[in-house]
Amino acid sequence: MKPNANSISDSSEIFKSLYQRQLSESIRSNTNSSNDEIGSKRCQVCKKGFMLRRKITCQICLSVYCSDHCTRKRKLNENEDFVFICDICDEEETKKEIAQEIDQEIEKLSLEVKELKENNERLFKEHYNNTASLNNIDMEIKKQEWNNKKQEEELLSQLESEQNRGVKIRNQVDSLRRALDESSKSEKFMSEACLEAENETEGLKLEIHNVEEQKDEIMSQIDKINSSLRQSLSLDQIRKILCEKCLLLVNKNLESNEKPIEDVVETVKEYHRQSFVSQDTDKPTKECVVC
Ligand SMILES: [Zn+2]
Ligand SMILES: [Zn+2]
Ligand SMILES: [Zn+2]
Repeated sequence: MKPNANSISDSSEIFKSLYQRQLSESIRSNTNSSNDEIGSKRCQVCKKGFMLRRKITCQICLSVYCSDHCTRKRKLNENEDFVFICDICDEEETKKEIAQEIDQEIEKLSLEVKELKENNERLFKEHYNNTASLNNIDMEIKKQEWNNKKQEEELLSQLESEQNRGVKIRNQVDSLRRALDESSKSEKFMSEACLEAENETEGLKLEIHNVEEQKDEIMSQIDKINSSLRQSLSLDQIRKILCEKCLLLVNKNLESNEKPIEDVVETVKEYHRQSFVSQDTDKPTKECVVC
């Protein structure tokens, strides 16, 4: 049941009219008490006799009244007929009814007030609880925000360090790639050099082979010359077909040892063999049968 402004203003109206009725009643009762001696021969209100008027008995106060002052009818009990009531008793009854209504209204209103108070207390408690939980939630949100901010900062710093690491690694990869390029270049260069060296070795082998063949040929020529010398050539003739170097050698051998010419030729040959082995590059100054 909700309180409403109309019912409250109605109640105050009822109080007001009740007060006015009570006032008039008290005035009237004073008048009545002074006229008790008149008895039942005159109307209790207008004090007129019943010679020309109808006499009515009020069924509540049992006093007699003229027809002008006993006009109301009421049921005294639920299952009875309507009976005449004097105006005074009617007012009294009305007053009782109004008082009863007021009591009921007051009871109703106090119930409403009680209910409203309870509601108010409940709402206050709810408000208090809500405020408390709101504060808690607010604190929780602030805490969460702070945590989020902290996490964000951590993640940012991690990201930054990862980026730095990435840059470092990229630089390392670049330098490794450069080194790899260089090493593959040098490998290529080395293999080319190896190939060249192999070719050179092959050439040298060929040259050595040629030189050996030449040597063998020279040896056979020397042998020929030797044998022809033994048969025909004199020392003077030999001297003419030798280069200065070979001539010097021959002379030296002849002077020191008085060797036979064959031995001298052998010595010269030996000399040439050795000088060949030691890669002597001195060129003869004139054509020579030995070298
Ligand atoms: Zn009267
Ligand atoms: Zn009466
Ligand atoms: Zn020579």
